[in-house]
Amino acid sequence: MIYDITFSNELVNEAAVNSKNDYGAVTQHNVLRILVREDLALAMQKKVLLHEILHCCWPESWVTSGSYFEDEEKLVTLLENSLFGVMCDNPDVFRWLMQ
Ligand SMILES: [Zn+2]
Repeated sequence: MIYDITFSNELVNEAAVNSKNDYGAVTQHNVLRILVREDLALAMQKKVLLHEILHCCWPESWVTSGSYFEDEEKLVTLLENSLFGVMCDNPDVFRWLMQ
């Protein structure tokens, strides 16, 4: 599926209005849209966007029940941090993969 990516503080705040968390980004699966705060540093925008992309992959994965499903946020955060580091440290590998 193709998600639209929008950079907007206002839309992130509106989407997270009922949450106590301070979100850097929010994914709206029902309208295929990822909202990213525009006031984040560029590196943080990239990191939170990767985090949301991993959330978007989740429903497409084989993990639909059990403890893995319940631990989605933990696993997405783990993957985000490790994958973002690998991508930043090895840009040539990822360019090669995309060819
Ligand atoms: Zn998350």
